[in-house]
Amino acid sequence: DAPVLTIDGPSGSGKGTISRLVAQRLGWHYLDSGALYRAIGLAAAWADIDLDDHGALVRCTFDTRIGFRDDGDELRVLVNDVDATDELRTETAGAAASAIAAIPEVRAALKDRQRDFRRPPGLVADGRDMGTVIFPDAPFKVFMTASADERAQRRYKQLNDKGVSVTLDGLLREILARDARDAQRAVAPLRPAEDAVRIDTTGLSIPEVVEQVLAQVAR
Ligand code: C5P
Repeated sequence: DAPVLTIDGPSGSGKGTISRLVAQRLGWHYLDSGALYRAIGLAAAWADIDLDDHGALVRCTFDTRIGFRDDGDELRVLVNDVDATDELRTETAGAAASAIAAIPEVRAALKDRQRDFRRPPGLVADGRDMGTVIFPDAPFKVFMTASADERAQRRYKQLNDKGVSVTLDGLLREILARDARDAQRAVAPLRPAEDAVRIDTTGLSIPEVVEQVLAQVAR
């Protein structure tokens, strides 16, 4: 099997940016598993599916086409062939993703789809349960954290740069609520794999974190 580097952690820990850069440096594939949950959340909203209707959500999970295109600057996400990148980035989409991500049948329906990303020469897999559930046998595992304030600041800057208007206070509250839900859910709660190396990115620059992660991957 191709090697996998899993990078799990809460929102705003820096894992998205870092995972993409590390994948580029290694020449490996990249899985943004959060984007899959966001895409299913959006597709379910488009189809007016009730969040209590788990059968319909599972069908939606199997039926939704999700495509990724790296345009050099960022990863564009196509949901049923519509470019939904900007809409998926909002905290509304994050909350919708977190809601459907707590449903065991939805997680199960996404399993194979995530494992299909494992192809030579290797995969960098970014999410909440990459090292614990999806790729438990991955040879390289990182768990990334940062202080809540710093995570809110980073998301604030990201969204502002994209022209999404948010307040820092509101964002901090929303992120903490989403993390609490992700950590407390019954299925695949956010937690480090036992064999994961923890990296606290508070106060570190992006290149510094990239080097720390690359150092984990013996080549
Ligand atoms: O990483 P991102 O913020 O895009 O993830 C959005 C939501 O999707 C998370 O808050 C979490 O509830 C869910 N998720 C998950 N398992 C993953 C990736 C994301 O439950 N592997």
